[in-house]
Amino acid sequence: MIMSQNHTGLIFFPAFDWAISPTHPERQERLLYTRDQLLEEGVFDLPYIHEYKPEIAADADILRAHFCIPTVERVITPSHRVAAGGAVKAARLVMDGICDKSFAIVRPPGHHAMKVVNGNRGFCSINNEAVMIEVLRDHYDVQKIAVVDTDCHHGDGTQDIYWHDPDVLFISMHQDGRTIFPGSGFADETGGPMARGRTLNLPLPPGTSDEGVLWLVDEVVLPVLKDFQPDLIINSAGQDNHFSDPITHMAMSALGYAQLNEKLNPDICVLEGGYSIQSALPYMNLGIILAMAGYDYSGIKEPGYESGTWRQDDRIMKTIKQLPDQALPVYFDPGDPPHDEGDLVTRDKRVFYDTEGIMEYQTETLRVCGQCRGALMIESETSRSDQSVCVDIPRRVCPECREQAEKWIDTERARGEAPVHVMDKSQSRNRD
Ligand SMILES: [Zn+2]
Ligand SMILES: [Zn+2]
Repeated sequence: MIMSQNHTGLIFFPAFDWAISPTHPERQERLLYTRDQLLEEGVFDLPYIHEYKPEIAADADILRAHFCIPTVERVITPSHRVAAGGAVKAARLVMDGICDKSFAIVRPPGHHAMKVVNGNRGFCSINNEAVMIEVLRDHYDVQKIAVVDTDCHHGDGTQDIYWHDPDVLFISMHQDGRTIFPGSGFADETGGPMARGRTLNLPLPPGTSDEGVLWLVDEVVLPVLKDFQPDLIINSAGQDNHFSDPITHMAMSALGYAQLNEKLNPDICVLEGGYSIQSALPYMNLGIILAMAGYDYSGIKEPGYESGTWRQDDRIMKTIKQLPDQALPVYFDPGDPPHDEGDLVTRDKRVFYDTEGIMEYQTETLRVCGQCRGALMIESETSRSDQSVCVDIPRRVCPECREQAEKWIDTERARGEAPVHVMDKSQSRNRD
């Protein structure tokens, strides 16, 4: 069976010098086993598969997505620059018309990295997708982007970065946060006051198999994507929903991941998790690559899988069938903005950096605005460092929000007690 075919670009970066520990599955072999499998299967000889080298993300690329405290250099390694640069390269291949689709098979992963970065959490220091999206906006003027996060863990970093951004639709399907890190991603997390409904969380019961995930894609994800009409669909492709994954409790298969990819039809995939690194991840990545390029993936045989073995409990489907009623109303009918123009709205957040044991206390203040995305200030303090103040000026900032941002910056600089970090996206290339 040959489906319509797409030139598909692959970017590999196994990061030989970055691992959580020599025996932790988040180590270089995580991608080397995939690479061996693809070579063995002859995937690189297929006429629609092409391999490219990653770019290296510069400070300026990273600082359009993050406030790095105290500096970029202190919170990342060179490997992080290449992983993020791999995602950027994937985007360029598609935007420059070199490939129809692309898959950045890179590590370290990124989707737990939030707008403010004080260290590593959930194996992530910088958000590869966000660095890529900001390059897309800066160099290609892409307006509306959908990010569908299919990792087993809630994509809390991507959610945080785009919480106030109505032009980025963020959908995360993940194991219920009551049962796994990072403990968030519930149906009532739907976006900030000016982006209500643009965050959709679909928490899945442990034990969910292909059946439950694919049903939810048909019933929630595809109708929402059809309505949103994004310029690009990005898949944060975490493969840790697999039945053999050692750090999660789900029941998907390699074939299920290939079917998921075919349904989503993303332009760009960026690898996130997947810790059954030898017996499962190579087959899942193979399935995704074949589905992206339009090759028949039905013959994939992965170890330990017999059709029908990984059936989910009927009660799981009952829970999943309640999710459309929880998720869809806010997207399709977000209601009137809950605040008036010019209001300053705050939210307090606690962010735990599990890899490093850091607790961060944040207060975020947004100027609600009908003219632009609103000026944003984040005051951040951690169990290891004093307060820093971060001011985010959006791309098409209005005069009132610019005035508010400058007032915050001047006040904090005059106070002289906390370093002030400024992200002025209005100075980017596509600023009007
Ligand atoms: Zn994960
Ligand atoms: Zn404004």
